[in-house]
Amino acid sequence: MSVFDSPTSRRSLLARSAKVAAVPAIAALGSSALITPASADTTGLPDYAPIPPSALGPAVNAQGYYVGRIERNLYWVTDGTYQAAFLTTKDGVVLFDAPPTIGRNLQRAIDEIARANGVSNKVTHIVYSHHHADHLGASSLFGRDVERIGHAETRRLLLRDNDPARPVPDVTFERRKTLHIGGERIELAHLGTNHTPDNVYIHFPDHDTLMLVDVNLPGWVPFQSFNLDEDGPGSIAAPAKALAYPWKHHVGGHMGRLGTREDMTVHQQYIADLVDGVKAALTHVDPTPFFVKYGDNTWAAVKEYQSAQTKYAADPVIRKYTGVLAAADVYTQSTAFVILESIRLDLGIGSQVHA
Ligand SMILES: [Zn+2]
Repeated sequence: MSVFDSPTSRRSLLARSAKVAAVPAIAALGSSALITPASADTTGLPDYAPIPPSALGPAVNAQGYYVGRIERNLYWVTDGTYQAAFLTTKDGVVLFDAPPTIGRNLQRAIDEIARANGVSNKVTHIVYSHHHADHLGASSLFGRDVERIGHAETRRLLLRDNDPARPVPDVTFERRKTLHIGGERIELAHLGTNHTPDNVYIHFPDHDTLMLVDVNLPGWVPFQSFNLDEDGPGSIAAPAKALAYPWKHHVGGHMGRLGTREDMTVHQQYIADLVDGVKAALTHVDPTPFFVKYGDNTWAAVKEYQSAQTKYAADPVIRKYTGVLAAADVYTQSTAFVILESIRLDLGIGSQVHA
């Protein structure tokens, strides 16, 4: 048995080793193998560009988490890959998302802060960003007496999915809801579909903070296929909606650090560059050779034609953002594919009507 048998341990180990590798002081250990793994690499796995140190956040502790203050009584917790937030109030703690990878470290982080500040460590409310299990799967750890708040569509999707780890919200809203809990103010808004139909904006007007999950992952390009996007135009529009709020700090739900307005703008530009690249590919990549070669095998022709289009769109974007956003060479082409399909199918660009 090794730690790699557990996906959770594996993930936090990987997150930790990524951080360790980024610390130049590691060289002091005298193990060159740690900093030049490629020299001894016999795995046959592909190499990717080094990630910029700016993509990484603070080191996690021995239990695998980091907790930090955002502003005043608002805090964030990360395991290096996932993020949650919590607000300590005079009446108890309001938790925002409960990723299962952080799991029981959520309460440990809350205990640590509550002990230091002499406030209650009792979680009284959990606010859900959206229904996905990777952000809510530790919700049931907090028992039945907690009030859960989420969008009406989150409730509908969770009733459908029937996962005991994610109790459905007790309190729901459709468009906007302002929460007043323990003297604190939290503004929830559903501004249309983006990553999922139910993903909401969580604004902390008195803490200069916006939580918007699975749209911009600060310092990193989106995860595979535009964060497994469910609505191209909605996700492309989301950063502008986020920037329309006043805030300084962004909780993106992922990776090891908080985001800034500059991070949101860089993400917005990265997506805009991919949109431009895809539009250019629609006119510049000639489909003829693909259809000539594959004949009656239409799917083979379409697959290779679209692969050439996404490569045409992604290559200059990968060059521009390598060293700016982590993993540009890992996931940009898969995001380009989703944007290509959105531009074709949602916007109708590139569609030709038969004469
Ligand atoms: Zn999600």
